[in-house]
Amino acid sequence: MPFPHNDDQVVNYRVTDAVDLNRLVPGARAYRYASVTSVGQLDVIVLCCGRISRLSGDFVHAVHLALCTNCALTYDVRVIDENDGGFVAQFIVRDERPVVARRRSDHWLARQYQSC
Ligand SMILES: [Zn+2]
Repeated sequence: MPFPHNDDQVVNYRVTDAVDLNRLVPGARAYRYASVTSVGQLDVIVLCCGRISRLSGDFVHAVHLALCTNCALTYDVRVIDENDGGFVAQFIVRDERPVVARRRSDHWLARQYQSC
């Protein structure tokens, strides 16, 4: 579910503001520069850990759902065309906290049957 945005209570972070992970609460907004790839996609760096989300298609006119599988945070991402050849991504932290599946280790199944 998207977070119900109330503009009176929104915390905004500018493009160059550092954002602490503890400040990424539902509804928080932050802006980051984005870069176009050589094949016309848009790379945006998520706020939580610096990983890259790659947007494709009509990235300017759509709202994207981005999920960081490392931090289990979700964002609504809107792209703003700065009309100078550059783009800025607006991130809005969503209120979901998904449970992310992780890779099992080689001995995962054997450990399930070990006695305590
Ligand atoms: Zn992350």
